[in-house]
Amino acid sequence: MRVQFCGVRGSTPAPGPDFVRYGGHTSCVALARDGDGAVPGPTLVLDAGTGLRRLTEHLGRRPFRGTLLLTHLHWDHVQGLPFFGSGDHEGAKVRLLLPAEDEHTDAETLLARMMSPPFFPIGPHQLRGDWQFGLVPGGTFDAEGFTVLAKEVPHKGGRTVGFRVSDGHSSLAYIPDHCPTALGGGPEGIGEYHEAALELARDVDLLIHDAHLRAEEVAAEGFFGHAAAEYAVGLGALAGARRVALFHHRPERDDREVDRTVCRFVESPMPVIGAAEETTLAL
Ligand SMILES: [Zn+2]
Ligand SMILES: [Zn+2]
Repeated sequence: MRVQFCGVRGSTPAPGPDFVRYGGHTSCVALARDGDGAVPGPTLVLDAGTGLRRLTEHLGRRPFRGTLLLTHLHWDHVQGLPFFGSGDHEGAKVRLLLPAEDEHTDAETLLARMMSPPFFPIGPHQLRGDWQFGLVPGGTFDAEGFTVLAKEVPHKGGRTVGFRVSDGHSSLAYIPDHCPTALGGGPEGIGEYHEAALELARDVDLLIHDAHLRAEEVAAEGFFGHAAAEYAVGLGALAGARRVALFHHRPERDDREVDRTVCRFVESPMPVIGAAEETTLAL
């Protein structure tokens, strides 16, 4: 499996010279299976933040044919959608799945709340190509040959899920927005290591996790709905993850500050990296 970070930022994009190494685009991770056809490219995309725009370049402007999974509908996870040139393309064939908000509202109606006039010129159904909108199934399901498990995790304002993705050889967990303090302080006071998070991260090759905060910021800012980098690493250690990528860097955190966060974990039991836009990991 190849994991391509297209956007690693949380909340709102962070452009500028102090943000070039980690990148300023919001959440988007593209997954490809090695050996998929003559022209391999990502077929499974996690979240549609502004980083999604970058995927068009990586696809050589070819139409995207695959599945887009959204963890939730906050702006920093959906605003790249209408600017995804390879998706808004006559030859595109896209299945987009998002978490149900209630029993009555279908996926396209939910998405259209943020993407329709007067907030945006067009609605989801006006994207070119063949688009299907659906809800993330409970439990395990298949997406583009990957096995995906979705589990609800606490965040703030709207249903949020984390994903575990496996290709049969390697696996990753993607939990970009997570407020574990909503379930209690846990052993270190930075959040509960609860069952859903542990199940998603169990023995994965890579845990991509919310590291919006640092441990000392949780008391004052935990109510925004995010986790500390220390929690991400603690969860990785408890769940047996082989590598942790700190993700969803807060927009004020420039390159040097993200470096400082990552440096806290040089002694950790597994490698800890700061997710950086335009990097690709092979699992
Ligand atoms: Zn977010
Ligand atoms: Zn969020």
